[in-house]
Amino acid sequence: MFKNAKNQIWDIAGCTRYFFVFAWKEIPSYFAYVIAGIVLKSIQPFIAILGTRYLIDEIAYAGRRDIRVILFWLGFICIGTWIHGVSYKFVTERQYHCNDLFYRIINVKLSMRTMKMKFEYTENAKMLDKIKRAENSFDNTGLVQGLTDGFVNVISSFIVLSGVFYLVIRCSVMLLIPIFISFIVSTMVSMKTTKIDEQYYKIYSDQMREQDYYMRNLTDGRYAKDIRIYDASRMILNNQEVMGEKIYQTAKKTNLRKWKFSRFDLMVTEFSNIFVYMVLGVETLLANITIGEFSSLIQSVLEFKNSMITISDGIFQLRYNASVLKHFLEYMDLVDKEEDREEEAALPLPKNADAPTIEFCNVSFKYPNTDIYILKNVSITIHSGDHLSIVGKNGAGKTTFIKLLCRLYEVTEGEILLNGININRFQFKEYIKMLSVVFQDYKLMAFSILENIALEQCMDRGVRERANELCKLIGLDEWVLSLEKKEDTNLYKMFDKAGVEPSGGQAQKLAIVRALFKDAPVVILDEPTAALDPVAESEIYRHFDTLVGGKTAVYISHRLSSCRFCDRIIVFEGGRIIEDGSHEQLMSIPDGFYAKMYRTQAKHYN
Ligand code: ADP
Repeated sequence: MFKNAKNQIWDIAGCTRYFFVFAWKEIPSYFAYVIAGIVLKSIQPFIAILGTRYLIDEIAYAGRRDIRVILFWLGFICIGTWIHGVSYKFVTERQYHCNDLFYRIINVKLSMRTMKMKFEYTENAKMLDKIKRAENSFDNTGLVQGLTDGFVNVISSFIVLSGVFYLVIRCSVMLLIPIFISFIVSTMVSMKTTKIDEQYYKIYSDQMREQDYYMRNLTDGRYAKDIRIYDASRMILNNQEVMGEKIYQTAKKTNLRKWKFSRFDLMVTEFSNIFVYMVLGVETLLANITIGEFSSLIQSVLEFKNSMITISDGIFQLRYNASVLKHFLEYMDLVDKEEDREEEAALPLPKNADAPTIEFCNVSFKYPNTDIYILKNVSITIHSGDHLSIVGKNGAGKTTFIKLLCRLYEVTEGEILLNGININRFQFKEYIKMLSVVFQDYKLMAFSILENIALEQCMDRGVRERANELCKLIGLDEWVLSLEKKEDTNLYKMFDKAGVEPSGGQAQKLAIVRALFKDAPVVILDEPTAALDPVAESEIYRHFDTLVGGKTAVYISHRLSSCRFCDRIIVFEGGRIIEDGSHEQLMSIPDGFYAKMYRTQAKHYN
């Protein structure tokens, strides 16, 4: 138990340090508002305690009843409460405003991390749960403000406690008994309910990820056609309802468990209040205290008890927030450490990387968390300037071969070399500069055409001209020029009502232009002409040499006519390379896979 408490203190300390250092770096003035908040919160109870005591005594005792004194204490209570209320509102508003900024900045940090993490994590349910827990942690804790509130409650309650302690024990030490009993019960209940909340957070967050998939991802326009055509809405709604019910049941169970404890707490609090009223009532009847003192002591005792409970609640709030925000810290740490370790050990790209020789040496590969080898003992050398075509049936492993080359996954056995050095030894962000890839499932973003092509370079000089030149070369210029805002036109209507929806072919051409714009020494095109019309496709083939020039090009296609302009063809079957040679060489193998496929396709055209 002691070890557990020590860990929790470390968690709170670590979490507070991280978020307060972050807040200090971003908006130092935030802490001025926090200190002002503590002072104001500590003063507040004393306005009523002092004011009512003297006011009531002045009114209650006929001999005194000085109207000026009565007006003074009335003014003290009303104006004091008003000034306090306005100032407190101002400082808390400022704090919440700063917290909104923190929220935005930290979300950007989280997105940056997620965009940089290992690609294979994007398919890992456990990792996706971790990301969701990190994302949800802000909403569930109130981020920096949540921690601040915890500390402000604890500190200001300590100050109030010290003030009212004197007032209470001066009257009767007996009053401390109900206060302490109520405090102990309340603390134990808070401990239990915080634990329940911590357990609930994990389950809730994982369930919310699935719920989000139904509510956000599937309502995305990209799914709209298929959902309508296949009438999938009922199935999606059913799944959504089932998930909604699960979330509701989890919340209900959690609240019921908490309610059992809270019920007991409420009962003890009420009994302790009755006891306090009885003790103070007797003291007043015995004329040991005045009516004004009775009123202020009632308030003091309640403040005393509330302060103690607020301190323990504040500590539990901090513990809960730390346990939830820990998910964010752990996630950041996990990805950071891995990346740092890898990037530290990594080499910069060699000078001769613009003339790369790529070797797959006995490479075998299984996808993470699967048992089946997708590639088996693949060995091949791709020389600088090679124009290589990869063919094979669906599922033969062609795209997987490319993904390994792009380091989206690590090989299971064997190694891939770049100019004789294992590719994993290079810094990833340097290595990837060497490759321009158009995947089958490429994605364009709801930004302008130019931004989609040139990304962050789009404001650089000469970029616009180069992008337009490439559009012309690929045959996209006619479409771009026909648009009112030309290359500045936004894609899709998500953010811009004048945005355009590119056709499948236009989108594919745009993806090719983006790859060529990157001007990397190795160009990889996975089924790049699947969406193009025959004229556009033959244009691309015709210009292929101009497009890729002397670069190394890897071209995956089912249309074997496209292999004619590649000087080398490899055939994949069941994760192995079964044929390797020029078109003429492979056609000369009578029962060869390539020759058969080529003749089958040619027959349809004839
Ligand atoms: P091809 O490009 O030749 O059509 P792929 O390389 O895309 O084939 O796929 C080869 C095999 O790997 C297929 O059986 C496919 O189901 C499997 N596969 C592809 N991606 C993944 C993945 N992310 N996780 C697990 N298996 C995968």
